[in-house]
Amino acid sequence: MLAMISSFFHQIPMTQAAVYKKSFTFQKLPARIKKKITGVSYRKNRYISYDDLRYVRVRYYNFSGKVKSGELIVNKKIAKKTVKIFYELYRIKYPIQRMKLVDVYGADDEASMRANNTSAFNFRTVAGTNRLSKHALGLAIDINPRINPYINSKGVLAPKNGKVYRIRDKEKCRGKYARHMIQKNSKITKIFKKYGFTWGGDWKYSKDYQHFQI
Ligand SMILES: [Zn+2]
Repeated sequence: MLAMISSFFHQIPMTQAAVYKKSFTFQKLPARIKKKITGVSYRKNRYISYDDLRYVRVRYYNFSGKVKSGELIVNKKIAKKTVKIFYELYRIKYPIQRMKLVDVYGADDEASMRANNTSAFNFRTVAGTNRLSKHALGLAIDINPRINPYINSKGVLAPKNGKVYRIRDKEKCRGKYARHMIQKNSKITKIFKKYGFTWGGDWKYSKDYQHFQI
């Protein structure tokens, strides 16, 4: 009985989901998801195939404290870690505003960030360069990007509506959600690091406060 209750990952073949905990699952991309992302966040390329990716479903608490279901696409190498991380975040009621596939925003990173949308896979380059982003490989996750903006070495900020959150001191920042900003000593930072991720807020020349990668 006990073994059943403490539910392991039930690895089921084909497109059925591996279940970590109830509502925390990952699976090969279902046909409807392939259809949704093709030509949007996914383009045929030599770096990443559908088979390298997993469709992840989790639950989270939104900014009003309501439980919501979220979806992400990540590399199969980090699918298990991803559900574990989001389960830990759920347990501590970590507030996430929304979590939809970036395809809902036409794979437009700026639009997704503006909506404070938490997301992972997007076959794209690093903003302002022609280098492939870790997001293109499904190896990076952005959390609440509007309140955790990206600021490059030239001071360019994304998203543009995240400006008030440049001030990272919770006491000084005048943003409505300043209390939810990711900090070095935040629980979320510690959780991601425990699973081997690095945090963009630790970068030296630019700061990407929303960004965790492996
Ligand atoms: Zn990112």
